[in-house]
Amino acid sequence: MPILHNMPTSDLQALDAAHHLHPFTHNADLAGKGARVITRARGVMLTDSDGNELLDGMAGLWCCNIGYGRDELARAAHEQMLELPYYNTFFQTTHPPAIALARRIAELAPGDLKHVFFSTGGSDANDTNIRLVRHYWALKGKPEKTVFISRHNAYHGSTVGAASLGGMAAMHAQGGIPIPDIEYIGQPAWWAEGGGMSPEAFGLMRARELEAKIAEIGEGRVAAFIAEPVQGAGGVIVPPESYWPEIQRICDEHEILLIADEVITGFGRTGNWFGAQTWNIRPDIMTIAKGLSSGYAPIGASVASEEVAGVIAEGGEFFHGYTYSAHPVSAAVALENLRILEDERIIARVAEDTGPYLAQKWATLAEHPLVGEAVISGMMASVALTPDKASRAAFAAGPGTAGLICRDFCFEEGLVMRHVGDRMIIAPPLVISRAEIDMLIERALAAFDRTESRLRAEGLMEAA
Ligand SMILES: *Cc1c(COP(=O)(O)O)cnc(C)c1O
Repeated sequence: MPILHNMPTSDLQALDAAHHLHPFTHNADLAGKGARVITRARGVMLTDSDGNELLDGMAGLWCCNIGYGRDELARAAHEQMLELPYYNTFFQTTHPPAIALARRIAELAPGDLKHVFFSTGGSDANDTNIRLVRHYWALKGKPEKTVFISRHNAYHGSTVGAASLGGMAAMHAQGGIPIPDIEYIGQPAWWAEGGGMSPEAFGLMRARELEAKIAEIGEGRVAAFIAEPVQGAGGVIVPPESYWPEIQRICDEHEILLIADEVITGFGRTGNWFGAQTWNIRPDIMTIAKGLSSGYAPIGASVASEEVAGVIAEGGEFFHGYTYSAHPVSAAVALENLRILEDERIIARVAEDTGPYLAQKWATLAEHPLVGEAVISGMMASVALTPDKASRAAFAAGPGTAGLICRDFCFEEGLVMRHVGDRMIIAPPLVISRAEIDMLIERALAAFDRTESRLRAEGLMEAA
């Protein structure tokens, strides 16, 4: 029987407001209007407590790659809970789900990323990376190599360490972060920041900020560069083609590690198993989570190269780990998720069929009067809303006003689309069909039309 099954929506909302503090939420505002209660989901569709159906353009939070309602994952969890619901991997012990999942990840990961340190999500995996990388350099006799270089507007999670690695100004303004020895360079966000440069020239310029930053800090102090192959939470910012080859060159020529945060881009999101393959990146460490289990159970990991893992392995005890590292139920669910991704050729379909189909439809959105650019990588995409396409202007009303209006109209049209400032973003389940893509585009266009009318009516189509 579903939990609180017969409780009316207003009672559920009141109880939620009374006791549940939501993440990334103005909780008093939300309590005033009441949270939308999602009760059920199948495929790409969500149902709320009033029976409304919504197309989930965000795969939950970028994670439900195989779609909702897969019986096989429920059975994998059920069987594993009966067999061995929990055991740790600290006491010189292991268990079959941990062994099988680590092997499977090593098979799928590019290059020689063969060694898996499990976490419960992406944030704690990035915390692991901070400790792993600094310990690695200390073991190599270079304990002064402690600085991480990241990017403004990067998202690497929400723990103290991960939020410090991230470049989100609003997060840094609360709680005394970043921690010391994290530095930032600019993001390859051409539309908003490229001015009169071509995208390719701008991509090169932003990549070379890494080289300048290494020179400024001193190569002897820099431990690693961390980046998302395609920025997700920052607004689905697809870098110019020139960007990643130049970043790779700089990492190769200097003695620093390259960490690819693949929490969103992993497990098919960009049309390959990993974004590193789509963008031809050779990371020393990869952060994974989200699509690893399609969100059915919490699990993440840091995946390290032979070199990094070898040094750590030989270096005595690494004093680090989580009670739920390699949780057997999560690992069993992840294994079944990876089996489905492969057996049902879901990633190949994204690469060859539904991805190109969505790309073609998505590009047409750029013809809408409100849309400045429409960009996509596999099954993650964004548009920039603007009051003036020609000058790529921001709204005078300030970032997020138009985006929030548009987000609310999307919900009214039956589409979950998120806004990041005035960028509208999607990352639907990878199993979305052509017909569902048509529905997504129709609903998005209807929301854009309504947003434009509202902005005009309220005098908000002014450029900043
Ligand atoms: C979501 C996300 C994280 C954080 O993962 P959690 O599981 O929420 O801790 C880290 N990096 C990226 C790129 C993400 O999108």
